[in-house]
Amino acid sequence: MNVLVVNAGSSSLKYQLLDTESREVFAKGNCECIGQDKGIFGHAELGGDKVKEDAVFPDHKTAISLVLKTLNELDISIDGIGHRIVQGGWYFDDSVIVDDDAMAKILEVAPLAPLHNYCEAEAIDYCRSAFPELPNVAVFDTSFHMTIPECAHTYALPKDIREKFHIRKYGAHGTSHRYEWMRAHEILGDKVHRLLSCHLGNGCSLAAIVDGYCMDTTMGLTPLDGLMMGTRCGSIDPATVCYLQREGGYTYDEVDDIMNKRSGFLAMSELTNDVRVIRDRATEGDPKCLMAFDMFGYRLVTMAGAMIAGMGGLDTISFAAGIGENDPTTRKAFCDMFEWFGVHIDLARNEIRSDEPRIISTDDSPIRVMVIPTDEEYMIALDVKRLVEAR
Ligand code: ADP
Repeated sequence: MNVLVVNAGSSSLKYQLLDTESREVFAKGNCECIGQDKGIFGHAELGGDKVKEDAVFPDHKTAISLVLKTLNELDISIDGIGHRIVQGGWYFDDSVIVDDDAMAKILEVAPLAPLHNYCEAEAIDYCRSAFPELPNVAVFDTSFHMTIPECAHTYALPKDIREKFHIRKYGAHGTSHRYEWMRAHEILGDKVHRLLSCHLGNGCSLAAIVDGYCMDTTMGLTPLDGLMMGTRCGSIDPATVCYLQREGGYTYDEVDDIMNKRSGFLAMSELTNDVRVIRDRATEGDPKCLMAFDMFGYRLVTMAGAMIAGMGGLDTISFAAGIGENDPTTRKAFCDMFEWFGVHIDLARNEIRSDEPRIISTDDSPIRVMVIPTDEEYMIALDVKRLVEAR
C-alpha cells in the first residue's frame, strides 16, 4: 500500500510517500518557515538529490496543497494518508480513520498541545476536502501511553482540578516507542519481555514496555517533563515556575519560553543544542560541555532506574533517535552505570555505525542492549494499512 505520511509541526511540515510492503520511499521532503514571509520547500525523489526552492507558506493548508500537487506529478497512486498528531488527549488509545467526530476530538484536546494539534488538524482538513475518496488516518504520539496504569499516570492534585483540566501523564514519542517494541520483538521473539526504550534525540524520553504494553514514560502532561533535552529542562521542581513568576517577575510566556527553548543542553553548554558539537567540545575538555553530559547521563540513569523498578525488572534496552543511534559514548556511559545490574556492553559492537537494528551487548550479557534506528513514518504507514484493510 502506498501511504503518504504527513508530520505537521508548528512552523514546518514534513512528508514521506512510501510503500508499506517494500518500505521503499518514493518521495520525501519538508516545508519550512510556515507562517513567515519567506519559506523553503525541499523535495527529494527515490534515487535523486533533494531540491530546495523558495516558497511562501502563509499557513499549513498552503504547505500541504503544494506537497500534494508535487506528488501528483509523480504518477504514483496514493492509497491513504497518515497524519502524526502530537496529542490525542483522553480520547484516543489507538490510531483512527478520521471522520467528523475524530476531527472534533482532535480539536477539543488541542489546548494540551496548542502549537501542534491545530496545524495538524488544518492539514487533515485540507486532505479530507481535496481528496474525499482517500482515507486519512490520525496517529497519536500519546495513544501508546494510554495503557500506563492509573497510579503511574495520575498527578496528586485535587480531583476537581485534575478532572476539569484533564491533567495527567500523556507522554509523547509513543509512535517511536511502539516501533522499538515491534522491531525488538521481531528480532528477539519471546526473549523480549520487559523493554526499556530510550528515545534520545532533540526531544528525549524513556518508555517502560512490558509485553508490548507501555507501563510508564518520562514525559508528562506535555513533552517538557522527564529527561534533560536539547532546549528543554526536563523535570524540575514545579515550584520553580511559581518562584520565577513571583520573585523574578517573569510572565507565564517567558517562563514557558525559558523552560522549553532556552534550557537543556543549550543552557548548560551556553553554546548550542547540537549534541554533536557539544560532544566534540567535551572531548576537548570544555568544562561546560562535560557538565552538560554529566547532567544528561545522571538523569538518564536515575530515570531509567525508576522505569525499570516500575516494570519490575528488565531484559532488553533499546536506543533510538539522533543521540541514541549515533553517540556511542552516551550508550557506553549509560551501560557502565548499569554494569552492576547485568548490562554488559560490547565495546566493538557499540562503535559500529549502521542503519540496521543491532545488538551491542556481549553474548553473555544478562540484559540485552540494542540500537534500533527508529522509523516513525513507517510505523504511521503501517497503522494506515492496518486500519484501512480492517474497514
Ligand atoms: P528530533 O527529536 O528533532 O527528531 P533527532 O532524533 O534528529 O531529533 O536528534 C537530534 C539530536 O541528535 C541533535 O542533538 C543532534 O546533535 C544529535 N545527534 C545527531 N547525530 C549525532 C552524533 N553523531 N553524535 C551525537 N549526537 C548526535
